[in-house]
Amino acid sequence: MKEYVGGCHCGEVKFKFNSDQAVEIWECNCSICKIHGYEHLFIKHDDFEITDGKDLISEYSFGTKKAKHLFCKKCGTKSFYQPRSHPGSYSINLRCVDEPPDIYKVVHFDGKNEFK
Ligand SMILES: [Zn+2]
Repeated sequence: MKEYVGGCHCGEVKFKFNSDQAVEIWECNCSICKIHGYEHLFIKHDDFEITDGKDLISEYSFGTKKAKHLFCKKCGTKSFYQPRSHPGSYSINLRCVDEPPDIYKVVHFDGKNEFK
């Protein structure tokens, strides 16, 4: 395990987390992931910490409202959020990690049909 840091575009929201150095990520075809080109890295709540900008984080939900889409109020970046598929973890956007871990596997998740 290694500590990684990441955050939003403007740099106000920052987080750190512990992760393996080679990871599996998910790409999802649902309406919101498709728009963002989101690369999901699931990290257990206990291994994740917001280090800056907590008060700038806003929330968006749609459909069943089970997923909590979190974004920076200032720059609009969704750097991590609470996914419906993994209730015990956050999903971090690998694109928002400063020096990200290596990807050893990409899972193509059919969120479009799974989450109707
Ligand atoms: Zn921001």
